[in-house]
Amino acid sequence: MASPAPIPLSRPVITQEMKDAVCRVLDSGRFVLGDELAALEKEFAAYMGVDNAVGISSGTDALHLALKAAGIGPGDEVITVPNTFISTALAISYCGASIRLVDVDRSYTMDPSKLEAAITPRTQAIIPVHLYGHTCDMNPVREVAERHGLFLLEDACQSHGATYKGARTGSLADAGCFSFYPSKNMTVAGEGGMFVTDDDGLAEKVRLLRAYGANAGTGTAEVLGYNAKLCEMYAAIARVQLRMLDGFNDARRKNAALYDKLLGDAVVTPRVHWGTHVYHLYVIRHPDRDALRAHLEGRGISCGIHYPVPLHRQPCLEVPGSFPVTEGFAKEILSLPMSAVHTAKEIERVCAEVLTFVKDA
Ligand SMILES: *Cc1c(COP(=O)(O)O)cnc(C)c1O
Repeated sequence: MASPAPIPLSRPVITQEMKDAVCRVLDSGRFVLGDELAALEKEFAAYMGVDNAVGISSGTDALHLALKAAGIGPGDEVITVPNTFISTALAISYCGASIRLVDVDRSYTMDPSKLEAAITPRTQAIIPVHLYGHTCDMNPVREVAERHGLFLLEDACQSHGATYKGARTGSLADAGCFSFYPSKNMTVAGEGGMFVTDDDGLAEKVRLLRAYGANAGTGTAEVLGYNAKLCEMYAAIARVQLRMLDGFNDARRKNAALYDKLLGDAVVTPRVHWGTHVYHLYVIRHPDRDALRAHLEGRGISCGIHYPVPLHRQPCLEVPGSFPVTEGFAKEILSLPMSAVHTAKEIERVCAEVLTFVKDA
């Protein structure tokens, strides 16, 4: 009997409308800072419920420029969590600032009860990360940030469309950053990102920083800028993806519900603690994670670990402290296949294999 087709960890959606959008840009001859980006920025801001959206070359660059625009530099400290993608830390380091970490709680996101103790006189900013598509408990985080006068930046690179108390991630702080990397809930089929804020002055600074720091009219460069623009073909694809985002997220939630139902309590399944989850990743925990992973991969089912090395263990970073909750999770977490277009049959096959492993273990 032929073995069944492999199941990828994630699968992007590319439609004819996206292909047509790319052709439209190619025919237009305008490839950067044109109508597609301007339209996307308007549409993205409206969707997220913010005043400004600025298209950036990647989520990493968006985080970097956001901190730069907020004036973060050498001597400053920025607080984030150990359980996140390396990019969150890179953005802080690119500014010459130091990283301070706060452990996560059972939601896999920043534990607000540990935040205040991490603040020092040098702390300038806090970056909570809405990990796996589930928001951080923002109200207590925002309360601490406001009391200490700190810049609050959401890393919303995994949470396009997720809500907290009725408002979308990206609109819950001073500013937010999104990624359009291929595996994210919406993509540009390449690299891209978005910076959002209600603060017009901050948006203007990020616009300047993404395009050489030079005033387009006068050619005068007041600041050392970067080349970090989101190009027109990507913006055109993103406009189509944004219109489909709610449908994508509904499909992800449907797949998550099927996982929840079939897995039961054979493994620790993700919980929704508050707000709405958009399941960028479907992350389970099992004490024998490595063997479970090997079992699944041996049967053509791709899995991931997000993340195997917490930030304070990364050789390229210097971060003090110990973070037992994150360390414990890092040994047990496993990301199962998830996207808007994985079929029920695929989810059922993954679950059957997980249950076989758990039963035999
Ligand atoms: C993907 C991601 C980023 C970086 O986005 P890129 O577009 O890949 O640069 C940053 N933070 C988190 C949490 C991410 O998942």
